[in-house]
Amino acid sequence: MSYSSVTSICRFASTVMSAVILAGAAYAADPPRRTVDRMYVLECGESKTNDVSNWSPGVNVGVSREFSDNCYLIKHGESLFLWDSGMSDAIAAKPEGVSAGGGILTLWVRKTLASQLQQLSIAPTDITHVALSHFHGDHVGNANLFTAATLYIQEPEYDAAFGPDAAKFNFGPALYEKLRGNPTVKLNGDKDVFGDGSVVILSTPGHTPGHQSLQVRLPKRGVVVLSGDMVHFEDNWINRRVPARNFNKEQSVASMERIATLLTAEHAELWINHDKAQSARVPKAPDYVE
Ligand SMILES: [Zn+2]
Repeated sequence: MSYSSVTSICRFASTVMSAVILAGAAYAADPPRRTVDRMYVLECGESKTNDVSNWSPGVNVGVSREFSDNCYLIKHGESLFLWDSGMSDAIAAKPEGVSAGGGILTLWVRKTLASQLQQLSIAPTDITHVALSHFHGDHVGNANLFTAATLYIQEPEYDAAFGPDAAKFNFGPALYEKLRGNPTVKLNGDKDVFGDGSVVILSTPGHTPGHQSLQVRLPKRGVVVLSGDMVHFEDNWINRRVPARNFNKEQSVASMERIATLLTAEHAELWINHDKAQSARVPKAPDYVE
């Protein structure tokens, strides 16, 4: 029997089953789908460029722009899931900021990630799950702290970050080399982390070879998608602009279209990590979002 005829029979059988079950208890046929308990948004650095057209080719040439940079800590029962680790806490020792990206950016860390976790009475080794949207320095800056967590990473990102040519992808292995020893789940696509639809890693390549975004189902707010660097700010999202330094332009556009479709289907919000105005509207730790 062909695969398609098996699936169509299964579909027919499950439609009948659903109809029978719906007649009894509503939605009993759906998979168990719960939400996370809460999500903390941590301030993990800020940056400024004097020419934002590096992120929007040909548009706003010579115009300066400030970027936010967040980390997100998700509580799911006894588990603590960290999404992104921000800029290195070491930058906090330089209040004048440090230059990055070949001089196109200045970075500051006003509050360390370690101190924000401490305020929540959480030790870095309490983090049970860690995923980075991608391996650029403003997302893996404190990755070496989280050695006890299971790491979720797309295989193309793993190969680029831990392979011999990391520098070609603008990755700095010193920031994350301790993750080599973590329990690691290599992905080639999406991953429902807890098997209940509450936290789903979404494959969104383009900015880097194995870039990923995160879908989080919150008990009151509903579904939020954390962008990573799938897009950097709202104007680029509306106009589907791709930064000149992205790894692959076609993949970048396809990833944006994919997320746009998902946002509609899930009635979800897109939280754009580096959009400072948007980030300012989100409560920060020790406050949290439910
Ligand atoms: Zn970034």
